[in-house]
Amino acid sequence: MRPVGSDRIAGFGTSIFTEITSLAVKHEAVNLGQGFPDFAAPDFVKQAAARHIRDDRNQYAASPGVPRLRAALADDWRRLYPDARAVDPASEITVGSGATEMLHDAVMATINPGDEVIVFEPAYDAYAPDVAMAGGVVRAVPLAPPDWRFDPDRLAAAFGPRTRALILNTPHNPTGKVFTRAELELIAALCVEFDVIAFTDDIYEHIVFEGEHVPLATLPGMRERTIAIDSMSKTYSVTGWRVGWVIAPPDLTVGVRRVHDFLTVGAAAPLQTASIAGLLMADAYYERLLADYRERRDVLVPALEAAGFRVHRPDGAYYVMTDIRDLTDEDDVAFARRLIADPGVATVAVEPFFRNVHQDPRWLPFLRKVGKAPEQLAAIKFDVKLPN
Ligand code: PMP
Repeated sequence: MRPVGSDRIAGFGTSIFTEITSLAVKHEAVNLGQGFPDFAAPDFVKQAAARHIRDDRNQYAASPGVPRLRAALADDWRRLYPDARAVDPASEITVGSGATEMLHDAVMATINPGDEVIVFEPAYDAYAPDVAMAGGVVRAVPLAPPDWRFDPDRLAAAFGPRTRALILNTPHNPTGKVFTRAELELIAALCVEFDVIAFTDDIYEHIVFEGEHVPLATLPGMRERTIAIDSMSKTYSVTGWRVGWVIAPPDLTVGVRRVHDFLTVGAAAPLQTASIAGLLMADAYYERLLADYRERRDVLVPALEAAGFRVHRPDGAYYVMTDIRDLTDEDDVAFARRLIADPGVATVAVEPFFRNVHQDPRWLPFLRKVGKAPEQLAAIKFDVKLPN
């Protein structure tokens, strides 16, 4: 019989996330397994959204994005990275439905069948399917525990004549790694040498505890070859709004907009306009956000250590990877399933984040520190029982 699905989606499978979430509901577990903040979105931003819907900004927006939002994004770039080349909102910014759509647009607009795309693993689980949908081939470079560095020789060896692009995510999901300037300079030098495009996933740019967020696009030679992807989701705690954007040079923007136009036409018009209110937040907002996440990290990490997990303190983003070697012989998936039932904490196995490189069974599973209140985190009893 003819298969129901296309060959393109055959390798995708269903993700462990779906199973973990339904098990968490069944066991009424504390859900640290889903990557969304449980901070309330700022009132100012929510009020703007309600107002724009009431004021009937309810029809299609301009496909590349509401012009005032694009202007606000260009201003934000100038505010955050004053030394970098300014961004032209008319020809270099495109707004769409979250970082997820923007990454898809970027890959579809630039990758031909057989092109190779370098990805650091563990990797956010959308990257490989995006590359596969374009007919590209992932070349994975491992980030090695405990501090998630990559081997420079291995990275250099991954570049070759078929390399078309590299995907960089910093601060990194799921390891919490913040790539250092020296690491980024090395990556940039290779991209320039091999004439490779960089897709950068910068959605955790405001959640950096140690070190600094250096956008790859700000390094010499990179602006003209970088498609920088960002979104409202994490910075303003509005993952359900689905508003994201890319900053890319005009020639790459043309392709991104072509895909975007036929895929979604545009992101939700009133939410785009409301996003301008988010971008107008004062510095104190970002400081508070960071302090709130830091507080949660500083409660969760010692609690995990006290329970016998080995933890490498994350430098950014809102996840914590744990080493379970001292606790169990089970694999990450089995262990994650057991934790949901007892003590009732849903985590995510690291398995879906490795698709190509051999995963290290010592560093499974990880707990994602979503925005749980510190009291809730402190109340979790991680007294994990060793299997008989
Ligand atoms: N990239 C990374 C690294 C993520 O963790 C997520 C969300 N978990 C996304 C992209 C998706 O972002 P958006 O909601 O803007 O589509």
